[in-house]
Amino acid sequence: MILDAFSLKGKVAIVTGSNTGLGQGICRAYVEAGAKVVGVSRRPSTETAEMLGDENFYNVIADLSSCDVIPTVVEETIKRFGRVDILVNNAGIIKRQDSIEFSEENWDSVINVNLKTVFFLTQAVAKQFLTQGSGGKIINIASMLSYQGGIRVPSYTASKSAIRGITMTLANEWAKYGINVNGIAPGYMATSNTQQLRQDEERSADILARIPAGRWGTPADLEGAAVFLASAASDYVNGFTLAVDGGWLGR
Ligand code: NAD
Repeated sequence: MILDAFSLKGKVAIVTGSNTGLGQGICRAYVEAGAKVVGVSRRPSTETAEMLGDENFYNVIADLSSCDVIPTVVEETIKRFGRVDILVNNAGIIKRQDSIEFSEENWDSVINVNLKTVFFLTQAVAKQFLTQGSGGKIINIASMLSYQGGIRVPSYTASKSAIRGITMTLANEWAKYGINVNGIAPGYMATSNTQQLRQDEERSADILARIPAGRWGTPADLEGAAVFLASAASDYVNGFTLAVDGGWLGR
Protein backbone atom coordinates (compact mmCIF):
# COMPACT_ATOMS: atom_id res chain seq x y z
CA MET A 1 0.00 0.00 0.00
CA ILE A 2 1.47 3.34 -1.01
CA LEU A 3 0.19 5.08 2.14
CA ASP A 4 2.32 2.67 4.23
CA ALA A 5 5.40 4.26 2.66
CA PHE A 6 4.46 7.54 4.34
CA SER A 7 4.16 5.99 7.80
CA LEU A 8 6.70 6.98 10.47
CA LYS A 9 5.72 4.12 12.79
CA GLY A 10 8.69 3.04 14.93
CA LYS A 11 10.78 6.09 13.91
CA VAL A 12 12.35 8.61 16.25
CA ALA A 13 12.67 12.23 15.17
CA ILE A 14 14.53 15.23 16.55
CA VAL A 15 12.80 18.51 15.69
CA THR A 16 14.47 21.77 16.67
CA GLY A 17 12.31 24.77 17.55
CA SER A 18 9.46 22.65 18.90
CA ASN A 19 7.67 25.18 21.10
CA THR A 20 5.88 27.19 18.44
CA GLY A 21 5.17 27.88 14.77
CA LEU A 22 6.31 25.54 12.01
CA GLY A 23 8.32 23.27 14.35
CA GLN A 24 5.33 22.64 16.58
CA GLY A 25 3.26 21.69 13.51
CA ILE A 26 5.96 19.27 12.34
CA CYS A 27 6.11 17.62 15.81
CA ARG A 28 2.35 17.08 15.71
CA ALA A 29 2.41 15.68 12.17
CA TYR A 30 5.21 13.25 13.02
CA VAL A 31 3.40 11.91 16.07
CA GLU A 32 0.23 11.54 13.99
CA ALA A 33 2.31 9.61 11.42
CA GLY A 34 3.51 7.23 14.18
CA ALA A 35 6.88 8.65 15.29
CA LYS A 36 8.26 9.50 18.71
CA VAL A 37 9.59 13.06 18.79
CA VAL A 38 12.33 14.82 20.73
CA GLY A 39 11.68 18.55 20.52
CA VAL A 40 14.57 20.91 21.13
CA SER A 41 13.75 24.44 22.23
CA ARG A 42 15.23 27.35 24.09
CA ARG A 43 12.10 27.78 26.17
CA PRO A 44 10.02 24.81 27.42
CA SER A 45 7.74 23.31 24.74
CA THR A 46 4.89 23.10 27.25
CA GLU A 47 2.04 23.46 24.78
CA THR A 48 3.55 20.91 22.37
CA ALA A 49 4.10 18.44 25.23
CA GLU A 50 0.50 18.83 26.40
CA MET A 51 -0.75 18.32 22.85
CA LEU A 52 1.29 15.19 22.17
CA GLY A 53 1.69 13.44 25.54
CA ASP A 54 4.77 12.20 27.40
CA GLU A 55 4.80 8.81 25.67
CA ASN A 56 5.21 10.50 22.25
CA PHE A 57 7.13 13.69 22.96
CA TYR A 58 10.21 14.54 24.99
CA ASN A 59 11.54 18.09 25.35
CA VAL A 60 15.24 18.89 25.51
CA ILE A 61 15.72 22.50 26.52
CA ALA A 62 18.82 23.84 24.82
CA ASP A 63 20.08 27.08 23.34
CA LEU A 64 21.14 26.31 19.78
CA SER A 65 23.10 29.54 19.44
CA SER A 66 26.06 27.46 20.66
CA CYS A 67 27.32 24.08 19.44
CA ASP A 68 28.10 23.08 23.05
CA VAL A 69 24.60 21.64 23.49
CA ILE A 70 24.85 19.20 20.56
CA PRO A 71 26.17 16.14 22.45
CA THR A 72 23.40 16.55 25.05
CA VAL A 73 20.69 16.68 22.36
CA VAL A 74 21.86 13.41 20.78
CA GLU A 75 22.54 11.66 24.12
CA GLU A 76 19.14 12.62 25.59
CA THR A 77 17.39 11.34 22.46
CA ILE A 78 19.12 7.97 22.65
CA LYS A 79 18.48 7.77 26.40
CA ARG A 80 14.74 8.49 26.01
CA PHE A 81 13.83 6.65 22.80
CA GLY A 82 16.86 4.43 22.02
CA ARG A 83 17.71 5.70 18.53
CA VAL A 84 17.23 8.52 16.03
CA ASP A 85 15.99 8.24 12.43
CA ILE A 86 14.98 11.78 11.47
CA LEU A 87 16.40 15.25 12.13
CA VAL A 88 14.49 18.42 11.27
CA ASN A 89 16.61 21.55 11.52
CA ASN A 90 13.79 24.02 12.00
CA ALA A 91 14.94 26.44 14.74
CA GLY A 92 15.82 29.76 13.22
CA ILE A 93 15.90 33.48 13.85
CA ILE A 94 15.77 36.59 11.68
CA LYS A 95 17.14 40.08 12.26
CA ARG A 96 15.88 43.02 10.23
CA GLN A 97 18.07 46.08 9.76
CA ASP A 98 19.19 48.14 6.77
CA SER A 99 22.30 46.50 5.30
CA ILE A 100 24.20 49.80 5.44
CA GLU A 101 23.98 49.72 9.25
CA PHE A 102 23.71 45.96 9.83
CA SER A 103 25.51 45.07 13.06
CA GLU A 104 28.02 42.31 13.68
CA GLU A 105 25.75 41.04 16.48
CA ASN A 106 22.84 40.71 14.03
CA TRP A 107 25.15 38.89 11.64
CA ASP A 108 26.70 36.45 14.14
CA SER A 109 23.55 35.58 16.07
CA VAL A 110 21.66 34.57 12.92
CA ILE A 111 24.56 32.68 11.34
CA ASN A 112 25.16 30.75 14.58
CA VAL A 113 21.58 29.50 15.03
CA ASN A 114 20.55 29.16 11.37
CA LEU A 115 23.76 27.75 9.92
CA LYS A 116 26.66 26.83 12.23
CA THR A 117 24.70 24.81 14.79
CA VAL A 118 22.59 23.28 12.00
CA PHE A 119 25.71 21.93 10.30
CA PHE A 120 27.30 20.51 13.44
CA LEU A 121 24.06 19.06 14.82
CA THR A 122 23.51 17.42 11.44
CA GLN A 123 27.05 16.02 11.52
CA ALA A 124 26.50 14.58 15.02
CA VAL A 125 23.18 12.99 14.05
CA ALA A 126 24.63 11.59 10.82
CA LYS A 127 27.39 9.92 12.91
CA GLN A 128 24.64 8.32 14.99
CA PHE A 129 22.89 7.18 11.77
CA LEU A 130 26.16 5.52 10.67
CA THR A 131 26.51 3.80 14.07
CA GLN A 132 22.95 2.49 13.79
CA GLY A 133 23.60 1.39 10.19
CA SER A 134 20.10 1.93 8.83
CA GLY A 135 20.30 5.32 7.12
CA GLY A 136 18.23 8.31 8.13
CA LYS A 137 16.45 11.47 7.05
CA ILE A 138 17.61 15.04 7.46
CA ILE A 139 15.30 17.92 6.62
CA ASN A 140 16.59 21.48 6.66
CA ILE A 141 14.08 24.29 6.85
CA ALA A 142 15.21 26.77 4.22
CA SER A 143 13.32 29.83 2.95
CA MET A 144 12.30 31.84 -0.11
CA LEU A 145 15.55 33.63 0.73
CA SER A 146 17.44 30.47 -0.21
CA TYR A 147 16.52 31.60 -3.75
CA GLN A 148 15.99 35.34 -3.50
CA GLY A 149 17.72 38.31 -1.88
CA GLY A 150 15.09 39.69 0.47
CA ILE A 151 15.29 43.20 1.91
CA ARG A 152 17.01 44.28 5.19
CA VAL A 153 17.84 40.66 6.13
CA PRO A 154 21.40 40.03 4.89
CA SER A 155 22.43 37.50 7.57
CA TYR A 156 19.16 35.58 7.21
CA THR A 157 19.53 35.41 3.42
CA ALA A 158 23.16 34.33 3.79
CA SER A 159 22.20 31.59 6.24
CA LYS A 160 19.24 30.27 4.25
CA SER A 161 21.10 30.34 0.91
CA ALA A 162 23.92 28.42 2.59
CA ILE A 163 21.43 25.93 4.04
CA ARG A 164 20.22 25.08 0.54
CA GLY A 165 23.84 24.72 -0.57
CA ILE A 166 24.93 22.38 2.21
CA THR A 167 21.74 20.35 1.77
CA MET A 168 23.19 19.43 -1.63
CA THR A 169 26.75 18.93 -0.31
CA LEU A 170 25.62 16.55 2.43
CA ALA A 171 23.32 14.67 0.06
CA ASN A 172 26.27 14.19 -2.30
CA GLU A 173 28.39 12.71 0.50
CA TRP A 174 25.80 10.69 2.41
CA ALA A 175 23.25 9.36 -0.09
CA LYS A 176 25.40 6.25 -0.39
CA TYR A 177 24.76 5.49 3.30
CA GLY A 178 20.98 5.65 2.86
CA ILE A 179 20.89 9.11 4.44
CA ASN A 180 18.52 11.48 2.62
CA VAL A 181 19.29 15.16 3.09
CA ASN A 182 16.62 17.50 1.74
CA GLY A 183 15.16 20.90 2.46
CA ILE A 184 11.78 22.56 2.68
CA ALA A 185 11.52 26.21 1.68
CA PRO A 186 8.40 27.65 3.28
CA GLY A 187 6.87 30.68 1.65
CA TYR A 188 5.40 33.48 3.72
CA MET A 189 3.87 31.77 6.75
CA ALA A 190 1.89 33.37 9.56
CA THR A 191 4.17 32.71 12.56
CA SER A 192 6.13 34.90 14.99
CA ASN A 193 9.01 34.89 12.45
CA THR A 194 6.91 37.13 10.17
CA GLN A 195 4.98 39.08 12.82
CA GLN A 196 6.97 42.27 12.25
CA LEU A 197 6.48 41.95 8.48
CA ARG A 198 2.74 41.34 8.77
CA GLN A 199 2.42 44.42 10.98
CA ASP A 200 3.95 46.58 8.22
CA GLU A 201 0.78 47.27 6.21
CA GLU A 202 2.52 48.24 2.99
CA ARG A 203 4.99 45.31 2.91
CA SER A 204 2.29 42.91 4.02
CA ALA A 205 -0.07 44.00 1.19
CA ASP A 206 2.79 43.74 -1.37
CA ILE A 207 3.61 40.22 -0.23
CA LEU A 208 0.00 39.03 -0.24
CA ALA A 209 -0.61 40.44 -3.72
CA ARG A 210 2.28 38.30 -5.03
CA ILE A 211 1.19 34.97 -3.52
CA PRO A 212 -0.80 33.10 -6.21
CA ALA A 213 -2.65 31.14 -3.50
CA GLY A 214 -3.88 34.50 -2.16
CA ARG A 215 -3.08 33.88 1.51
CA TRP A 216 -0.24 33.50 3.97
CA GLY A 217 0.71 29.89 4.75
CA THR A 218 0.12 28.15 8.08
CA PRO A 219 2.12 25.51 9.99
CA ALA A 220 -0.40 22.90 8.75
CA ASP A 221 0.57 23.68 5.16
CA LEU A 222 4.08 22.35 5.80
CA GLU A 223 3.14 19.06 7.41
CA GLY A 224 2.62 16.96 4.25
CA ALA A 225 6.04 17.85 2.86
CA ALA A 226 7.68 17.26 6.26
CA VAL A 227 6.17 13.78 6.58
CA PHE A 228 6.99 12.89 2.96
CA LEU A 229 10.67 13.84 3.33
CA ALA A 230 10.93 11.92 6.63
CA SER A 231 9.36 8.76 5.24
CA ALA A 232 10.32 5.88 2.96
CA ALA A 233 8.19 7.54 0.24
CA SER A 234 11.12 9.91 -0.39
CA ASP A 235 13.96 7.35 -0.35
CA TYR A 236 15.16 8.40 -3.83
CA VAL A 237 14.88 12.16 -3.20
CA ASN A 238 18.32 13.60 -2.42
CA GLY A 239 19.64 17.13 -2.01
CA PHE A 240 16.47 18.89 -3.11
CA THR A 241 14.78 21.85 -1.43
CA LEU A 242 11.04 21.70 -1.91
CA ALA A 243 9.14 24.99 -1.92
CA VAL A 244 5.86 25.07 -0.01
CA ASP A 245 4.98 28.61 -0.88
CA GLY A 246 1.51 29.00 -2.39
CA GLY A 247 3.23 29.57 -5.74
CA TRP A 248 5.46 32.51 -4.71
CA LEU A 249 8.65 31.30 -6.42
CA GLY A 250 7.00 30.62 -9.75
CA ARG A 251 5.49 34.08 -9.97
P1 NAD B 1 9.07 30.98 15.09
O1 NAD B 1 9.76 32.25 15.47
O2 NAD B 1 7.64 30.78 15.45
O3 NAD B 1 9.90 29.73 15.54
C1 NAD B 1 11.30 29.72 15.62
C2 NAD B 1 11.72 28.54 16.46
O4 NAD B 1 13.15 28.54 16.58
C3 NAD B 1 11.16 28.61 17.87
O5 NAD B 1 10.70 27.32 18.23
C4 NAD B 1 12.36 28.99 18.71
O6 NAD B 1 12.30 28.44 20.02
C5 NAD B 1 13.48 28.35 17.93
N1 NAD B 1 14.77 28.98 18.25
C6 NAD B 1 15.19 30.21 17.87
N2 NAD B 1 16.40 30.45 18.42
C7 NAD B 1 16.75 29.35 19.13
C8 NAD B 1 17.87 29.00 19.92
N3 NAD B 1 18.91 29.83 20.10
N4 NAD B 1 17.88 27.78 20.50
C9 NAD B 1 16.85 26.93 20.37
N5 NAD B 1 15.76 27.20 19.63
C10 NAD B 1 15.71 28.41 19.02
O7 NAD B 1 9.21 30.97 13.50
P2 NAD B 1 8.81 29.87 12.42
O8 NAD B 1 8.24 30.64 11.30
O9 NAD B 1 8.08 28.74 12.99
O10 NAD B 1 10.28 29.44 11.98
C11 NAD B 1 10.71 28.12 11.87
C12 NAD B 1 11.73 28.02 10.75
O11 NAD B 1 11.09 28.30 9.51
C13 NAD B 1 12.90 28.99 10.87
O12 NAD B 1 14.10 28.36 10.48
C14 NAD B 1 12.52 30.06 9.89
O13 NAD B 1 13.63 30.76 9.40
C15 NAD B 1 11.86 29.25 8.82
N6 NAD B 1 11.00 29.97 7.90
C16 NAD B 1 9.89 30.63 8.33
C17 NAD B 1 9.11 31.31 7.41
C18 NAD B 1 7.88 32.08 7.78
O14 NAD B 1 7.30 32.74 6.93
N7 NAD B 1 7.40 32.01 9.01
C19 NAD B 1 9.45 31.31 6.07
C20 NAD B 1 10.59 30.63 5.67
C21 NAD B 1 11.35 29.96 6.59
